[in-house]
Formats: sequence, structure tokens, C-alpha cells
Amino acid sequence: MQTDVIVLGAGMIGVSAAVHLQQKGKSVVLVDRRGAGEETSYGNTGIIERDALLPVAFPRSIRDLIRYGLNLGTEANYHPSFLLKAAPWLLSLRAHTDTAGMKAYAAAIDPLSSRAVEEHRQMAAAAGAEHFVRRDGWLRLYRSEAAFRDAEGLLLQLARQYNVDYRILSSGEIGEMEPHLKTSSFFKAIHWTGTDTVSWPEGVVKAYVDLFLRRGGQFYAGDAKSLTQVEGGWQVTAGGGPVTAKDVVVALGPWSLDVLSPLGYKFPLASKRGYHMHFGAVGNATLSRPICDVEKGFCLTPMQKGIRLTTGVEIADRDAPATPRQLEQLKPIARDIFPLAEERDETPWLGRRPALPDSLPIIGAAGRHRGLWLDFGHGHLGFTQGPISGRLIAEMIAGEPTTIDVSPYRADRFN
Ligand SMILES: Cc1cc2nc3c(=O)[nH]c(=O)nc-3n(C[C@H](O)[C@H](O)[C@H](O)COP(=O)(O)OP(=O)(O)OC[C@H]3O[C@@H](n4cnc5c(N)ncnc54)[C@H](O)[C@@H]3O)c2cc1C
Repeated sequence: MQTDVIVLGAGMIGVSAAVHLQQKGKSVVLVDRRGAGEETSYGNTGIIERDALLPVAFPRSIRDLIRYGLNLGTEANYHPSFLLKAAPWLLSLRAHTDTAGMKAYAAAIDPLSSRAVEEHRQMAAAAGAEHFVRRDGWLRLYRSEAAFRDAEGLLLQLARQYNVDYRILSSGEIGEMEPHLKTSSFFKAIHWTGTDTVSWPEGVVKAYVDLFLRRGGQFYAGDAKSLTQVEGGWQVTAGGGPVTAKDVVVALGPWSLDVLSPLGYKFPLASKRGYHMHFGAVGNATLSRPICDVEKGFCLTPMQKGIRLTTGVEIADRDAPATPRQLEQLKPIARDIFPLAEERDETPWLGRRPALPDSLPIIGAAGRHRGLWLDFGHGHLGFTQGPISGRLIAEMIAGEPTTIDVSPYRADRFN
């Protein structure tokens, strides 16, 4: 079969790229070994983060370094056997997250973050997925005055600089918004009012892929590792036969190097692993929007299946067996602030945030192969940035001017 573009990977990133390419008049074949939105894009916190202005930083204070070093915190976990392998990546993250690096990151990410909510709203409207979307923001909760003052420094300064809407809530005001939270645990909260959130991330991706199919797109089962360069383009085995196209987009999230390494590309892509578990709520307790406990490093989000507890980062090999230590530590902490009832998953879900050390994605031409395009490495923000990334990659493939300057996301920044 011949098509204009093959998109490898049907997570939020690949599906969004497929929808936008189709809008440019391209015939598109989307390929995945699973259904749409069943990997990383399935299990996240569901926040479409207008407020994404700071990367998750490498710890700098001596206190934090010791806590992390001894694996004492709930915010992060690591596999000691993997640390040596991860060291160059962690050192690069450290170099990118000093104050100057954080400000540079904000300047580079804001063009994506400031468009993300509207891009999702448009795609959700076209896909009939608006019922998944809540428009009332999320809460960042601070237990101590010191942690809040930290945030007041750089984060809120950047929020004002980039016109990101927020309100500061007192403990009492948090309680008015979320009456079943134990608000006495919290000093203050930031309510990010311009951020949307969703009640079922997988449902959103599946609705977007249905839009693509309704408009004539094709979605086949196949192994992206069958990709080969052929005369005039690229070929992959999918849907039981060869599919050939002039252009191919690699949107395989944490698996992107499985295809790119054999082609000679070396990108510093790591998997920042994370877990989730759903819970019922005791009695008539409800949560209206995602809340994140900043110091303890977890979030609770009302999802279709129940209240989803998502963890922070685990530094480990992508394919190492699950070690949901953080989740176990966090369960009693979460139960202390919200009346969680029964566990609704047999085992914790494990996901892998596809992360580059400057915390920015790669969106653009691979560079050394004609017709090879990259759209991966969205880290903590891939659910947020899917539709805007899809727009940009489609504009580039169509040879059009891009909506924003894409130079911060170029692949060759790592070469
Ligand atoms: C705990 C947690 C919380 C998060 N919270 C948020 C949040 O609130 N907001 C936000 O914006 N982001 C969040 N993220 C990050 C976000 O989920 C990811 O950045 C995003 O889902 C990445 O999307 P993707 O399409 O690149 O990858 P994926 O969704 O993983 O898609 C990659 C696809 O490639 C396919 N694939 C892999 N290998 C092959 C192969 N060989 N052949 C064929 N197909 C293959 C997979 O089956 C998969 O469908 C969170 C992540 C985690 C883990």
C-alpha cells in the first residue's frame, strides 16, 4: 500500500500528528502494536498544563540531595543498579536546571504551553470529546510556608511574565473548592485557572483517533521496528503487508530509539517512570479537579474509574520490572488528605515519561535521512502538547511556515 505519510505510534503525540497531517490533505497510515492511547498516554494525570513553565529540576539543596541520595523521599525513587548508567543524563538535567536554565526553558516551552489548551479544545470539539474536558483548572497544594515562598519566587514570577492566570488560595478557600480535602494539612494553594483537565486520557486519545478514521485515515497493527528506507521513501510492515510512504513520523514516545538507534541516531532519551492506582471514595466524598501535593510529590485526579493517584519520577531502566515503592509509601499519605476507599486496580499501572535532559521535545526533521520526521521526548507534558506538536510537524512536512519558531525543538541540538 502507498500513502503520503506513515505515523509510527498512536499515543497522544502520534494521533495528534495524524489528525493534523490529514487536515493538510495528506493520506496517512497510523501504525501501533496496540490500540490508541494505551501506553503512556493512558495513565497520566490528565492535566493540559497552560502553567507548564518550569522543568522538574535536579535537586540542589544539600537536604534534598541527601534525601534523594538515600532514596528517602516520596517524590522520587531510583534503582541503585541503574544510577551509573543514568549519571550522564542526570548531570545533563542538572546543568539545564540552574536558574538561568529554568528561565531559558520557560521561554522555549511557553509557545507550546500557551497554545496547548486552545489546540485541545479545537480537537476535542471536532472529535466530540468535549465531555471529557473540565475547564476549572487544578490545584498545587503547599504544606509549608517555606515551600510556598519558593514557588512564589521563580514560578509565580514567570507566570506573571508569561500571562498565565492563577489565584492564591488560603487553607479556607481550598476547603470551599474541595470540601472533602483535609485542608488543615495545607498552608496555601495555587489555583491554575487557565488550565483544562480531562476525566479519561485514554478516552480522549481514542476520540481523536476516531476523528482521524472518520475522515478516511487508516490505523493498522504493526511493529515500527520493521521500518526500512526504500527508494523514494520508507516502508513498514503493518496490517499484514508493506506500507510505503515518502515521509514517516516517529512518535513512539519512550520507544522512539528502538527505531532510531538502528538508523544511527543517538538521542539522550530517558524514561522517567511513574505509577498510578485508582481508588473509590468513602461515602459521598468528591474531588472536582486534580490536586497535587507538591512536597510529597503526588497528585489525585477524579477520573472515570475513580480517584487516580499518580506518582512522581522513578529513575530506572525503561524495561526493568515495576517497583511501585513510591505508590505504597504514598497511599497512607493520600488517605490522610482525602477519604479514599477501595483500590480499583489489581496491580499498579507503570508508565514511562519519554524525557530529554533539557525537558523539551524533539519536533522536526531527523536531519540525516530525507523524509524522516521526529515527534517525541515530551516528558511530563506529552498529553498537554500533543495537538500543538501535531500542528507543527504537519506544517513542517507540508513545507509551510510554522505557527511558532520551532528552533528550540530541533533534533540537531543534541548532535
Ligand atoms: C504518572 C504520569 C503522569 C503524567 N501526567 C501528565 C499530565 O498530567 N499532563 C501531561 O501533559 N502529561 C503527563 N504525563 C506525560 C504524558 O503521559 C506523556 O508525555 C505522553 O503520554 C507521551 O505520549 P506519546 O504519544 O509520546 O507516547 P505513548 O503514549 O507511550 O505512545 C507511544 C506509542 O508507541 C507504541 N509503540 C511503541 N513501540 C512500538 C513498536 N515497536 N511498534 C509499534 N508501536 C509501538 C506504543 O504502543 C504507544 O501506543 C504523565 C506521565 C506519567 C507517567
